[in-house]
Amino acid sequence: MDLIRLSEDTKKKYRKKFKHKKKYNIMQYEKLIEPIIKTHTNITYDEFANKKKFDNEKLFLLRHDIDHDFETAMLMARWEHKHGLRATYCVLHSAWYYGILQNGEYFHTEDLVWLCRELAGLGHEINFHNNLMTLSLQEKIDVNAVLSGELNFLRSLGLKITGTSSHGDRLCRALNYRNYEIFKEAVGIEFGGQRIVYSSQNNHSARVGVSSMESHGLLYEAYDIAMDAYISDAGGAITTSTEIKQRHNFLKNGQEKAGNVIGILTHPVWWDFD
Ligand SMILES: [Zn+2]
Repeated sequence: MDLIRLSEDTKKKYRKKFKHKKKYNIMQYEKLIEPIIKTHTNITYDEFANKKKFDNEKLFLLRHDIDHDFETAMLMARWEHKHGLRATYCVLHSAWYYGILQNGEYFHTEDLVWLCRELAGLGHEINFHNNLMTLSLQEKIDVNAVLSGELNFLRSLGLKITGTSSHGDRLCRALNYRNYEIFKEAVGIEFGGQRIVYSSQNNHSARVGVSSMESHGLLYEAYDIAMDAYISDAGGAITTSTEIKQRHNFLKNGQEKAGNVIGILTHPVWWDFD
């Protein structure tokens, strides 16, 4: 396996860029989590999706969309491990540190492999952060070939990948689609159902529903889980939403029998864990 080595200069450039985005610190993170772990059991998304009996349990799901700031993600992961927490870390294939896509095939970096192995070693889950609908609108790719190539690669590292999470790319809002719509199980009626999305900017079109979660051995999409309360830092502002519905009742594992489910979603770029 030939891996790409990123230069120190490139990493420094990104570190500098992220430094200006930090809005919250460790203390604020602790404050957010402290009351929840007193009453709720912390489990990963994978464990939730595999769960068959809910018995009125109170559950706490912690998720991080790593996006571009993988070094802060690593710091958060170590802090969580020290505090007995386990989270679901979503690794974005279109992030700068992930690798280079050439003729529909990714060449991966040493940092990606290091990140994934370290996170898993700390007891965290790795989830595939999906930006494939966007990618197929930007450059003609075979969505299924890229997805199975990446899942095979990540699984060959010894990682258990059972879920995806949709990345909210700028193009999603501009063209009204969600990345999870590559899956036939997840085509969104609210976005227009079965259709072809066209990007005039790239002069490419992409059909929704060309892939299937089941055929890739995927059990859940992050938006399949209903939550009583959902705290998110999307856009850099911490907000709490209540009664988040499940998407299309896809995950039929009796989750409605849970007593209470609280989810936290962070994007490490907003957090200073140094
Ligand atoms: Zn994302």
